[in-house]
Amino acid sequence: MVLADLGRKLNSALSQLNRAPVVDEKVVLDGLLKEITNALLEADVNVKLVATLRKQVKAKVKPALESTDKAKEVQRKNIIHRAIHDELVHLVDPGVEPYKPKKGQPNVIMAVGLQGNGKTTTCTKLAVHYQKRGFKCCIVCADTFRAGAFDQTRQSATKAKVHFYGSYTETDPVAIAAEGVAKFKKERFEVIIVDTSGRHRQESELFEEMKQIQAAVKPDMTILVLDASIGQAAEAQSRAFKESADFGAIIVTKMDGHAKGGGAISAVAATKTPIIFLGVGEHLGDLDRFAPQPFISQLLG
Ligand code: GDP
Repeated sequence: MVLADLGRKLNSALSQLNRAPVVDEKVVLDGLLKEITNALLEADVNVKLVATLRKQVKAKVKPALESTDKAKEVQRKNIIHRAIHDELVHLVDPGVEPYKPKKGQPNVIMAVGLQGNGKTTTCTKLAVHYQKRGFKCCIVCADTFRAGAFDQTRQSATKAKVHFYGSYTETDPVAIAAEGVAKFKKERFEVIIVDTSGRHRQESELFEEMKQIQAAVKPDMTILVLDASIGQAAEAQSRAFKESADFGAIIVTKMDGHAKGGGAISAVAATKTPIIFLGVGEHLGDLDRFAPQPFISQLLG
């Protein structure tokens, strides 16, 4: 499982703190914080974010370390634990509430991202997720760039018993997106997911197409689908998409693989956008809700 390595290293650093007979500045700064920052850097978390975390933890624990009351050793350890936990949560929490689909109205969700990141799979997973919660869901395939994209949507949507829309003949993705969304709105669908085409690189054509689709379907939420395995590149990629497609949520896919995952954490900070789900496998049910607090608590074991 991705990030398991990071979790193990953070845990080992915290256990050493627990075992230390005396907790002083040397133990915390040279031992604990050094190990934690190294673990985060090794997991591909951006160096500036790691430096900020280190500074914040240091500032938070300073008063406790300055106290000379030996009887308060346990309390001191608790303060340090809490400071580290809170700063790790801060790393993955941009403090922004993502859009929540509402029943009884159309909620248009548009997915963007580079090809191969898992967009099409994630669109069906999302439809399955909301369908299970009683929403009437459908998918519009506005990917006319990749041959076979519509077939992929058709197959996975059929398997998931989700309505879908697309075309083998229309070559204009904006027209397909607009027609599909209009049709499903008329049919009173509640979650309308628009899958857009991805390219291998962040080309201007891709961004232009995204902007046009966005203007045509006016999504309530645009989601960036980000592959966990891209590491440090996640930051630049998410910034480039943010400038063009202004997404309001991130889904990180392939969290079940061997990727280090820290890049996705950096993308949150770079774009001030919350992660809402994690893709944890190739099956349609392999989508976990993401929330900062439980995620960090689980990471720390
Ligand atoms: P797209 O080009 O962005 O639409 O990507 P696809 O949805 O076609 O996915 C590309 C590949 O990634 C496919 O083989 C998917 O099965 C796989 N994939 C997508 N999400 C996940 C995930 O969360 N975990 C794993 N292991 N594979 C995934």
